[in-house]
Amino acid sequence: MDRPFWESTSLRELTSEQWESLCDGCGKCCLHKLRDEDTEVVYFTRVACEMLDVESCRCSDYASRFARMEDCIQLTPDELLRCDWLPATCAYRLLAEGKPLPEWHPLLTGDPESVHRAGQSVRGRVIAYHKKLDLEDHLVDWAG
Ligand code: SF4
Ligand code: SF4
Repeated sequence: MDRPFWESTSLRELTSEQWESLCDGCGKCCLHKLRDEDTEVVYFTRVACEMLDVESCRCSDYASRFARMEDCIQLTPDELLRCDWLPATCAYRLLAEGKPLPEWHPLLTGDPESVHRAGQSVRGRVIAYHKKLDLEDHLVDWAG
């Protein structure tokens, strides 16, 4: 049987459509994070980027995200090597580490809602950012 594209094609050789389809829509990468200056450890918060639609867990203006949010980062195969801030469940990170996609990934289930049903997205678990908010009060362990 033919292997699926994410197993048979390297990340660098994917089409843009294949690359985009790898995103499971969890929304975890779109949360504010803090990095400990001494240890370099990255801590997730439950505070979402202003542009994250917290219901769909998708960017509210994906096409213009870089123009509108200066610290939004374009994920690329090269960038992945430096992305210690991606969650352990992120499909890009998993494939870059030679690991399989989780069973709840939409590419395996054929259903974009499966990431939410599996409790692997930020839906219903995050708050919107505002300037008076102290991120250190909102650290979250998104284990797995
Ligand atoms: S963490 Fe990875 S899989 Fe989840 S939304 Fe971000 S890019 Fe997509
Ligand atoms: S601008 Fe959009 S893609 Fe970028 S971090 Fe914010 S919600 Fe995520």
